[in-house]
Amino acid sequence: MPSDAAEMPFAEFSLEVTEDHLRRFYASAVANSDEWKLALDRFRQKIRLNTWAVVIFIVAFFTVLVLVVMGVVAERFAPLLLLGAIVSAGTSALHGQQLRTQFKAVQSGDLWLKQSVESGAVGPWKIDFSDSGVRSRMRNTDATYGWEHFSAAELVPSHVAVLASQGVSMYIPIELFTSDEAARGFVRRVQSILESHACTAAHRIVAYLRDQSTPCPKCRYDLKGVQHATCPECGLALSFENVPGARGVVMPPRN
Ligand SMILES: [Zn+2]
Repeated sequence: MPSDAAEMPFAEFSLEVTEDHLRRFYASAVANSDEWKLALDRFRQKIRLNTWAVVIFIVAFFTVLVLVVMGVVAERFAPLLLLGAIVSAGTSALHGQQLRTQFKAVQSGDLWLKQSVESGAVGPWKIDFSDSGVRSRMRNTDATYGWEHFSAAELVPSHVAVLASQGVSMYIPIELFTSDEAARGFVRRVQSILESHACTAAHRIVAYLRDQSTPCPKCRYDLKGVQHATCPECGLALSFENVPGARGVVMPPRN
């Protein structure tokens, strides 16, 4: 067994992706990721606000009704106000129903499962790792990514994850490796390549800003296309923490 991770030969992985694989993968991705948890929390918040809107419109309906009966509101305005309240309550209730359906699709991973199936992810998948990058071939895609596309490699419970700064990450089922030690060796190999390719935090911030119109957090200068990880206008050092939107999209380096 090679002791030096850098000596590990790179391999080609070949697997038959089924819907069941993808379902399990997305369910575990949703359950284990902070980003998903945040997204789901935002969903819950929207649903709560929507429920309040429905309640408020129903209360408004009965308030108007009482005011009409008491003679406070002129009868000629009553139909308009009552209809407005009913339509608003109905529209909000319908929207709430849609939100709940979407929430379930996100929570179960079904939304991404559907997208993956539509994009041809079910079927044979070949992944070639080489010193120049990663080639991924599926039924109707053949894509090659240079190492600068990736930011980190790690062992997660069921997969080896080679994570992209943005865009496509690779998740290789652990059972494709001959042993756990082989999987760990592979992760170390990718990590050493990422380091040697100078895929540093600064590089990835610059890559992220290549075609992202993002204001500098200090002076509001548009950082799109900057050449270095500093703001050309005010000199602020740009990082994952302070560039709006980069957090979560651009993975911080792992120690
Ligand atoms: Zn600035």
